[in-house]
Amino acid sequence: MSDAPDSRPRILARADERGVVVEVEDRLYLRLDAAGRWIAFGEGGAMFRRAVDGRVLRPGAEGFETLSDAEADAVDGWVVRRAGEVVEALAAVPAGDLVLEGRADALHDALARAACGAVERPADTRRRYDAAYPEPVPILPPHRYRDLVVQPATGCPNHACAFCAFYRDRPFRVLDDEAFAAHLEAVRDLFREALAERDGIFLGSASALSIPDDVLVRRLVAVRDAFGVPRRGVASFHDPDRGRLRTPADWARLVAEGLVEATLGLETGLADLRREQGKSADVDRVVSTAAGLKEGGMAVSVTVLVGLGGEERADAHRRATVATLARMPLERADRIYLSPLAGALPAERLREEVDRWRRALADCSGARVGDYRIERFAWFA
Ligand code: SF4
Repeated sequence: MSDAPDSRPRILARADERGVVVEVEDRLYLRLDAAGRWIAFGEGGAMFRRAVDGRVLRPGAEGFETLSDAEADAVDGWVVRRAGEVVEALAAVPAGDLVLEGRADALHDALARAACGAVERPADTRRRYDAAYPEPVPILPPHRYRDLVVQPATGCPNHACAFCAFYRDRPFRVLDDEAFAAHLEAVRDLFREALAERDGIFLGSASALSIPDDVLVRRLVAVRDAFGVPRRGVASFHDPDRGRLRTPADWARLVAEGLVEATLGLETGLADLRREQGKSADVDRVVSTAAGLKEGGMAVSVTVLVGLGGEERADAHRRATVATLARMPLERADRIYLSPLAGALPAERLREEVDRWRRALADCSGARVGDYRIERFAWFA
């Protein structure tokens, strides 16, 4: 950034009410939210992302690594210095060397705030996140990664699946009216200007749709009052094995309050394998739940675990699960997520198995099929 005038860098920038992106040739990448808090930073081959919970992450071989507090502070200081240098460079840059898409005032405001170091530090975000959220957000469906998550409940009604990395031994608990109102207030305060970036809402945690209907309707109304109607609607995970089986009319009542989709964990269509893993052997119930959701006007995503049951049951698991998925009235608006179970098969076999599943599903389901690499999830700011 301290180049002589004849080697001044070309700067590309994009700025609007959601935030700012600045690229200085291929040397520097900086993304800020509208408040000037950095959310992504890259320089010299290193790349860092900031999570909603304040952690600073860097890409690793298997997902993202969390930096230590000292490392996070060092990256944060680095960003403040670079933001200051960009401010200086912009002041000196000839018109032709800046390519700006969007609003110059938004660009200068966000950069000035980042450069003076007066914006929230990652450690402060961590403290406020811990106060706002009753529990972590360990996973979301891939197409909802940019949602604003609110937690009307914590834990999982089942909390006993053998393969579950997130909710085993975390019993289901529904927040009462007062606690949920306080949670929404704290979430609003945590995100502030960055709310403009979120165009969908996700009800956490593992199965918010297990909340009884009357309470759930109140929660949907409270979410709408707090954040308005998001463009991509409200979504949630749902454990189909427990609780009352809702009718299409029950689902339609929730749709009328803004709910648009649910993600269900089928995992396998083999009843015995499902039971062995700590889920119900009642595969038909998952099919009925998906059908009821569709008839009630919702989109459905279904997750399956490729590799579950090992080599011995690979064919039976695939055939039974594909046949079960084929019985669900899924269409283009719906999704099937293939989640490879790490260690269940050798890596090459697991990849081959995913390909087989894709080919089999292409012939018998109208849903889109995608990968679900849970180990790569991070809820980014
Ligand atoms: S139902 Fe889902 S979230 Fe709950 S324990 Fe089983 S896999 Fe985990």
